[in-house]
Order: sequence, then structure tokens, then C-alpha cells
Amino acid sequence: MNAAKSSKTARRITVLGSTGSIGVNTLDLLGFAAGRGEVEFELEALTANKNVALLAEQARKFNPRFVAIGDEALRDDLKSALSGTDIEVGAGPAAIEEAAARDADWVMAAIVGAAGLKPTLKAAQRGADIALANKECLVCAGDVVTAAVKKAGGALLPVDSEHNAIFQVYDFDRPHRISRLILTASGGPFRTWTRAQMSTATPAQAVAHPNWSMGAKISVDSATLMNKGLELIEAAHIFPTPHSQIEILVHPQSVIHSMVEYVDGSVLAQLGTPDMRTPIASTLAWPDRTPSPSARLDFAKVATLTFEAPDPERFPALRLARDSVERGGVFPATLNAANEVAVEAFLNGRLKFLDIAGVTEHVLAEVQRRNGPARLTTLEEVVAADQEARRLAAEAVAARAAA
Ligand code: NAD
Ligand code: MG
Repeated sequence: MNAAKSSKTARRITVLGSTGSIGVNTLDLLGFAAGRGEVEFELEALTANKNVALLAEQARKFNPRFVAIGDEALRDDLKSALSGTDIEVGAGPAAIEEAAARDADWVMAAIVGAAGLKPTLKAAQRGADIALANKECLVCAGDVVTAAVKKAGGALLPVDSEHNAIFQVYDFDRPHRISRLILTASGGPFRTWTRAQMSTATPAQAVAHPNWSMGAKISVDSATLMNKGLELIEAAHIFPTPHSQIEILVHPQSVIHSMVEYVDGSVLAQLGTPDMRTPIASTLAWPDRTPSPSARLDFAKVATLTFEAPDPERFPALRLARDSVERGGVFPATLNAANEVAVEAFLNGRLKFLDIAGVTEHVLAEVQRRNGPARLTTLEEVVAADQEARRLAAEAVAARAAA
């Protein structure tokens, strides 16, 4: 549609993970903004893992130069779905990295999981502005990614609604005047459930989030509250505020997306309806603003905002994440990888809901008995920690399945 390939002023955009929940919202927003003449852009690349039909549909609509599908076996399917166009096609993990390495000014990093790390790093190393949804890549490799962004001179623009909220009210010139970051959490679908109820929770129940519509993995993370644990680690990498000053607060209405408290007692918050097109729009236009089609807040309808402390007994993932960020080194990457394996096993019916945190805790304890580097400063160190945790987690899942 609006891909003016010859334009010199248009912004070049790549969407990594375009077929996912964030990717679809990003393209929807781009279509909306372009339709109103708000943003002139040309698409450099789109990527997906397996969903050829949607990727091809998006490509025909937005006319990128390059599309990549992660699953190598789907190359021919994608090629034939795009026959008659001049769009270049790639397949396999290397093609996803190539998509990220191609010349775009703004890259939406919306692949789920540590699979997004290498592509996101490629885009960062090129100096692109990174709209970062893929929180797992900061959890497992925060030092590596933030160093790459700094060195190449791009901006790291958080898409995650909490971090985007903080980003909008954070005084980066005076971080020492900030006393607390308060990350809000909806509490997920099991906020009021007992441990006994949670012990029989099904994947369908876990992905039925009360406020947000999201991909399966992050929905399960929201049910265990591991999502908020990952976000704690993510925040510690994005903002120069120590993790000990980052708190988690359950706020079931998801109206306040997070808050910053200053030393004088002022608390600044960003509010909005739970629609990811608002934070995505803020990263797209940053430091300007652009209209978004998201619904406006109707305060009279919202009427009541409530808050409660998270329950560490029912949601042990929060403690595991806090411990991991305190220990540093291999632990955040270990936490992330073990959780990814456990969530996938749960979604496939091979693991019980409460065992997601159980497996993750087990893997962290196993890894604690070995000596790892104090900080993970190279990609190789991250990959080694990630793979070791995946191996241990797969063993722990198999042991529980056999029991
Ligand atoms: P999703 O599952 O809906 O989409 C994931 C995307 O990544 C898809 O396009 C998929 O094809 C691609 N992908 C998956 N595995 C891949 C692989 N191995 N190689 C290449 N591509 C792969 O997930 P989502 O909900 O859109 O979330 C994406 C990221 O954004 C996650 O890190 C999530 O935590 C974060 N996030 C999402 C939301 C939300 O509202 N959905 C909010 C905040 C943060
Ligand atoms: Mg979030």
C-alpha cells in the first residue's frame, strides 16, 4: 500500500516477528499513521517463524524489500506465496539475522524469547533505533545488548507497556533524583486463585488474560507472574536505577502502566487503555508523538483504581527473578531459558502449571553449584548459559513427566 520505495525522506522500517501479537499491532499502527499522512515510511523487512500465510499477506500489503521465514523448510511455500512480486525471500535463522542487518532506521524487535537475541543485536550493532518488545533478550543478554546500542549510537525505545510508561516520565538527566520505580502488574488470570486451584490450571485458562490480548508465551508468563520478574530485570537494564529500587505492585485494572517516584515524594505515572498500539506509537514517533487508534481512557467509566502487594507464596516466580538479578552473572539468562522450556512444556501439556516455577527453580539451583562468570559480557557466554539451562530444564521436565 503505502510503501513509497523511491522516497528519500521516508523512514525505513523493519518488523522482526511481524506475525505475532506485537508485530500485527505494529503493522496496524503503521497502516493507520500512513493513511493519515502522519508517518512516511518504507518497509525494509518483515520476518516470522512459521506463519507463511500471514507473512505473505502482510508482505503483499506493505511491500517490503525482504521477507524471512525462520523455518527453513517453509522457504518454497513462502516463495510461491509471493510469486509475481519482486520481494526477496530468505529462510532459516541466518535469514532472520540478515533481515535485522539490512539498512532500516527503526527496527521493531518483536520475536518472542531468546530466539530474538541475535537478530536484535544485529540491528543494534548497525545503530538502528530499536523498539524493544522482546524483553527476553535484555533478560539473558542485557549487558551485551545495551553495550551494542551505546557503541553504535541508536536509541533503545522500550515497547513493553511498563517500561514505555517509565521511559515517558523518567528524568534521564537526573537519575539520582529518582527514588523508586514501581512496575505495575495486572496480576494475571490467577490473581485470586489458590495454589490448589492453580495446580490444575490448563493452558487455555492460563492464556486467558483479563486485560491484554498477547502471544501464548507472555500470557503464561503473566499467569505465573514471571512476566513481571522478567520485566524487573528488563527495567534494571534500561534505566540507571538499581534493581533494589524497583518494586512490583499489583494493579488489576491495568490503567496505570507504571510509575516513577522522585526524592521529593512526587510520583509520575503514565496511564492509558490496555492497547499496545499506544506504546508502539510512542516508540515510532519518539521524541515526537503520533496519533494512535487505541481507545481513550474514560475515567468516569474506570471509576476505581485498586492496588495490592503481590503474593510471593502463590507466585514464586517473582522471588526467582529477584534472586537472579541480585546474583547476576549467569542467573538471569538461566532463569529465562529454563522458564522458556518450562512454559513450552506446559503449553504442550507435558508440565503442570505450578511446575513451571518448579523446573525453573530446580535449574537455578543446579547452576548455582557451578562457577560462572560474574557478568555475561559476550554473546558466546550468553549462548553457553542459555544452552546449559535449556538442557537442564529439558531433563527436569522429562523427570516430572515420568514421575
Ligand atoms: P507472539 O508469539 O504473538 O509472536 C512472536 C513472533 O516471533 C511471531 O511473529 C513469530 O513468528 C516470531 N518467532 C517466534 N519464534 C521465533 C524464532 N525461533 N525465530 C524467529 N521468529 C520467531 O508473541 P508476542 O506476544 O507478539 O510477543 C513478542 C515479544 O514482545 C515477547 O518478547 C513478549 O514478551 C513481548 N511483549 C509482548 C506484549 C504483547 O502485548 N503481546 C507486550 C509486551 C511485551
Ligand atoms: Mg509488560
